[in-house]
Amino acid sequence: MAFRGRKSDREGRLVVIGGGAGDGARAIPGQVWLVGAGPGDPELLTLKAARIMRAADVVVHDRLVSDDVLALAPNAQRIHVGKRKSRHSVPQDGINQLLVALALEGRKVVRLKGGDPFVFGRGGEELEACRAAGVPCEVVPGISAGIAAAASAGAPLTHRGLAQGVTFITGHAAATGEGAYGEPDHDWSVLARPNHTVVVYMGLSTAPVIAARLMAAGRAGSTPALIVENASLPAERRVLTRLDGLTEAAGGLDGPAVLIIGEAAAMANCEGRDPKALADGGVPVHETAPTTKGNGRP
Ligand code: SAH
Repeated sequence: MAFRGRKSDREGRLVVIGGGAGDGARAIPGQVWLVGAGPGDPELLTLKAARIMRAADVVVHDRLVSDDVLALAPNAQRIHVGKRKSRHSVPQDGINQLLVALALEGRKVVRLKGGDPFVFGRGGEELEACRAAGVPCEVVPGISAGIAAAASAGAPLTHRGLAQGVTFITGHAAATGEGAYGEPDHDWSVLARPNHTVVVYMGLSTAPVIAARLMAAGRAGSTPALIVENASLPAERRVLTRLDGLTEAAGGLDGPAVLIIGEAAAMANCEGRDPKALADGGVPVHETAPTTKGNGRP
């Protein structure tokens, strides 16, 4: 596999390709598109993403991209560089080099990323690598998991009187070595303000710490908290609880999931939900069955 790139190609920025069409040598540069694949439901891709995928020569994708989405690039070679937490099958540097090398071979390279490339997607590093190598790179935004989760649950991220703003945070800190992750470094006092939604990505395993820090910083234990697992996919599950029930609720899920913490999360549409019990500190956890909803089809 042309993994490391060819230095001479890189310097020249133009390469000769032998093209499958047998049209002789053409000197054209390739290009990279960092494409947001959305949260999983192929209908949540942009028209632009679908068009670029149809034309792609190669799609470099990670674990969170579903087969239905990959099917939108029927003619492209697929390269899986799957990631899951600390277990990266290809390190980020290797992915950056791969994208550059493929583009320098003259190929149309789609780097397909779950959600949006610039929301906890390391798209910025891939863009920088392309820029450094002189490879044209275009970013196609996607629907980020937190946006999709809120929509699916019917729980607005901002809402007059309940949420004046929203903050997207990661539940993980940088690796502390040997696959271990430390505590995320956030300004908890800011995140603990009432009438404000906090959306946590990669936060299922650190939910106990996140809940504890928010409550220690003054956020009420009775603050509604929603977990959406597999947002937009047939296996989607939603759990509505309170901040002081977050640890218990998160324990029953294994993601991918986002945590949505804030007053407006109480509007979530979860079967069996009892808003009064939620407010009174009664039964804190209400879980939906896996949904087979029509993903917005009329
Ligand atoms: N760039 C992506 C985020 C990648 S980080 C985006 O914009 O959505 C990976 C994290 O995203 C997961 O740990 C999880 O927190 C979240 N995530 C991705 N897909 C999801 C889905 N379908 N449902 C819920 N959370 C999801």
